[in-house]
Amino acid sequence: MIVTRDATARNPSAPDAWGTTSPTCANWWKRRTLVVVKISPLFSAMVRMTRFAPLLALLFALPLGAQRTNRDPDAVRLVTDDIAHFWDAFDARAVLGTERALDSLYFGRATPGLQDFQQLRLQRKDTFAKTVDVAARYYGSTRASMARIATFEPSLRDMLRRFAALYPDATFPDVYFVVGRLSTGGTTGSAGLLIGAEMYGRTDDSLLTAPLGNWHRAVLRPVDDLTVIVAHELVHYQQGQLGSSLLGRSLREGIADFVAELLTGQNLNAGAVDYLDAHEAELRAEFLAGMTKDDVSQWLYNGDASVGRPADLGYAVGHHIARAYYERQADKRTAVREMLTLSNEDAARRFLDASGWAH
Ligand SMILES: [Zn+2]
Repeated sequence: MIVTRDATARNPSAPDAWGTTSPTCANWWKRRTLVVVKISPLFSAMVRMTRFAPLLALLFALPLGAQRTNRDPDAVRLVTDDIAHFWDAFDARAVLGTERALDSLYFGRATPGLQDFQQLRLQRKDTFAKTVDVAARYYGSTRASMARIATFEPSLRDMLRRFAALYPDATFPDVYFVVGRLSTGGTTGSAGLLIGAEMYGRTDDSLLTAPLGNWHRAVLRPVDDLTVIVAHELVHYQQGQLGSSLLGRSLREGIADFVAELLTGQNLNAGAVDYLDAHEAELRAEFLAGMTKDDVSQWLYNGDASVGRPADLGYAVGHHIARAYYERQADKRTAVREMLTLSNEDAARRFLDASGWAH
């Protein structure tokens, strides 16, 4: 069931399943910093209006509330209330003004998921209102896509059940679909997975004009990608951190893509995978030469800066390492458990060696 009225408040006494901070698909954060700095006048203005230091502190702080997690994929709540509230506010802009409309009709009725998202990724309501105004044409174009999100429940539920069968230790948070400021595709908060629905409303490239730029052209996706996106984020939810090196970060993203592909049959970064397949020998040599360094600028989160080859090739490299490991193991469920429980840089290196991909 897709929950449309989320009446359950946070339970501060419930156990927190997150042993450590899980800052999600870090790429969205990194990408936002890139786009706001480099791309558009809109986001340049956003940079000036955003106080980054406290935002970073919040991003890496432990969640404040407690999560509602369980091992039953059928008990996961898929919460779309905030989308309906956003459109109420969007339609009231002319009467109330955007900031006031959002404040009263969107934030004023926020689910626990939107409350988290506002703290983690939106912060200033005036900045968010400005984004909605400047990109109103794009937001308006996403309405039909957002209305379809509730119809993905069977697909999402099927994916969740497959995940439970593949990885019995999986824990499932609730999933909140919220509307953000075109900066975050997915993240996690104390309430559960938080999916930025406006990032999955792409219907017509002609709408990706100013104030949207190359970065948005690279990352905005159609709503039909929703199930594999949630699967990718759900893998991150299970994972530990694999370190800050190119190898660790690429492996973390690539494992998320690989397991999401096992669950849905779809690869989120198919273009990068195709390019890697066509140039694997030279890319392997380049990757191995730089994989212990922390510089990921040529491999990850470079949707606005990649020249001459696809962005985010690190996802594809990580995917191929995970796939090579999986194919070598007789027991596939054990292989999945092993890749999902990697938890440090040394483990990432051993996993690479065991995969045979480097040779
Ligand atoms: Zn990710």
